[in-house]
Amino acid sequence: MRIGIPRALLYYWYGPAWKVFFQEIGLTPVISGPTGKNSLNIGVKAAVDEVCLPVKIFLGHALELTSQCDLLLIPRYVSISKKEYICPKFMGLPEMTKQAVGENQIIVWKSDHNCPWGSIKALPQEISTAYGRKRVKKGLQAAKKILKTYQGLLQEGYLPSEAERLLLDGIMPKENSGRAIGLIGHPYCLYDSFVNLNTIDLLQSKGFKVILPEMFTDAKMEAELADLPKPLFWTLGRRILGSFRLMQKMGVEGVVYLSAFACGPEALIGEMVKREGKEIGMPLLQLDLDEHSGEAGIITRIEAFLDLLIRKRRYSCV
Ligand code: SF4
Repeated sequence: MRIGIPRALLYYWYGPAWKVFFQEIGLTPVISGPTGKNSLNIGVKAAVDEVCLPVKIFLGHALELTSQCDLLLIPRYVSISKKEYICPKFMGLPEMTKQAVGENQIIVWKSDHNCPWGSIKALPQEISTAYGRKRVKKGLQAAKKILKTYQGLLQEGYLPSEAERLLLDGIMPKENSGRAIGLIGHPYCLYDSFVNLNTIDLLQSKGFKVILPEMFTDAKMEAELADLPKPLFWTLGRRILGSFRLMQKMGVEGVVYLSAFACGPEALIGEMVKREGKEIGMPLLQLDLDEHSGEAGIITRIEAFLDLLIRKRRYSCV
């Protein structure tokens, strides 16, 4: 049986673990290809207007997969850390997808306070019934093991696609070197190169070493945010602010912030990042990504920002 896994949203955090789990229990994972015009267009058509761009793209990937698989995996991640939540759009993802692709083809992998990711309860019952608890437990153990190694590679500075190729196919990535620049945002904005018009490649081609949120551990971020008057309960938002502070401490020359247009949690986090950046004098470029983002809107503004950073560097050396 073929299980379709959309290459979107938290695929960039959990993709290799999902893949390994299904392989271990004897199913064939089918991953959708990189985002392209088709996935964007069909996702936009299938979604309601109010939904953010990353969810539209997820729906596009799900629709592309329907003809290639027997079942679709749709995560419903409510919480992946203690006392924290993922945004409400993730909670409603299975319903939104069912609306787009039809009910029968979906299995839901949950993660919440009662059945955390990696527990047998998080999986749909039909999986443990069909494949047996022992086999499913073994699959989960393998998934957890690969997830740990994958996260370790991201912390070493590998991009998710590079870490995945290295882990599953043994392909070594290219070197990321130069003066440091920070890139922050949700993983599906940072690592989907169609959505952000290859921002990481652009920064690297201009001689910058790109520092990413996934390079920092949760423990480091927690320590960094300990002074907040109230803890941030959005996991994704907490990681954006925490990495922004850590990047500033490690001396990046500037930070590019890729945010998703129509993202609710980012309305708050974006403001916090902007205020802190202003206070410490950190050059910050915030770009809103939506389905109409074009080269002129993204690449030209990043190039202008990099020119400013390079000029600033020259003057500070004089
Ligand atoms: S956090 Fe923002 S960008 Fe991500 S799914 Fe929720 S609304 Fe969309």
